[in-house]
Amino acid sequence: MKKILAIDAGGTKITCAVINENGNFLTEIEKYQTPKKIDELISLFKTIISKHENNIDMTAFATAGAVNITNTKVDSSTPNMPSGYNELDFSQLSNKPVFVENDANAAAWAEYKIGAAQGEDNTITITLGTGVGGGFIVNGRLLRGKSGRAGEVGSMKINGQKRICTCNRFDCWESYASGSGLKKTSEQIAKTDNIFKSSIFNTKKFEDITTYDIIDGLNQNDEYSKKVFDIWKQDLIVGLINITNIFDPESIIISGGMGKFINTDEIQNAINSEIVVSPVKIKLAKAGNYSGMIGAALLACQKF
Ligand SMILES: [Zn+2]
Repeated sequence: MKKILAIDAGGTKITCAVINENGNFLTEIEKYQTPKKIDELISLFKTIISKHENNIDMTAFATAGAVNITNTKVDSSTPNMPSGYNELDFSQLSNKPVFVENDANAAAWAEYKIGAAQGEDNTITITLGTGVGGGFIVNGRLLRGKSGRAGEVGSMKINGQKRICTCNRFDCWESYASGSGLKKTSEQIAKTDNIFKSSIFNTKKFEDITTYDIIDGLNQNDEYSKKVFDIWKQDLIVGLINITNIFDPESIIISGGMGKFINTDEIQNAINSEIVVSPVKIKLAKAGNYSGMIGAALLACQKF
């Protein structure tokens, strides 16, 4: 059975382990801080790989950023990774095959193979965190597009309020439906709606209200928090309706830190009452915190 060294390269930490082709972990998970300089990052990658290289068949990376069609480089700039990251040719890091895939795509593949979407050949995994990521499985294959960058669903346009996004464009779905989107909505409502005057947070500065405040406010029946959360939820639902109408998936799997705040049955009912395709199931992710590593490993197995 093939053994894959799987490495998740994120902006703050790097995790790795050896995984087999069934997605089972063969070693303990190692964790490292992501170096700030590209030279140090490359040398960390090489150290990790050389430690395991004799016992593995290949290395698979899951990483932030859009990956090219040959799974060897990160094409788009990723502000949370060291500058020069998109110059790195991953295939040069080892004498054995190296594969790199976008982390949201890898997570979607893990949900399809071992997680909440097993047996569902048309399924989409949406990651709701600081941003919004997506991986699309269409007819049992990962949708990659002409350049490898398909599935950048966080950049889908909604709403038209001219809200600036972290990418400096306007009205990306992720500037509404992510955790930071919820925070932006909380600021906007605090500034413009009288409901804030009677909120339990009314002594806070608008910009100091956090996502966790809003969740806390929901539990305390705070009307302002309820309004903010309802707007966030509606913005989330609009995007999910669009995705469902275009892809007609069996399921949409929600992963990421914001997932625990939503009621999947409520979201599912709201979507299914607005779509023209057949009903979709909304489920929480099951492949766990290391789904990016597992998905990248299983995709690498298919390729090599
Ligand atoms: Zn954007």
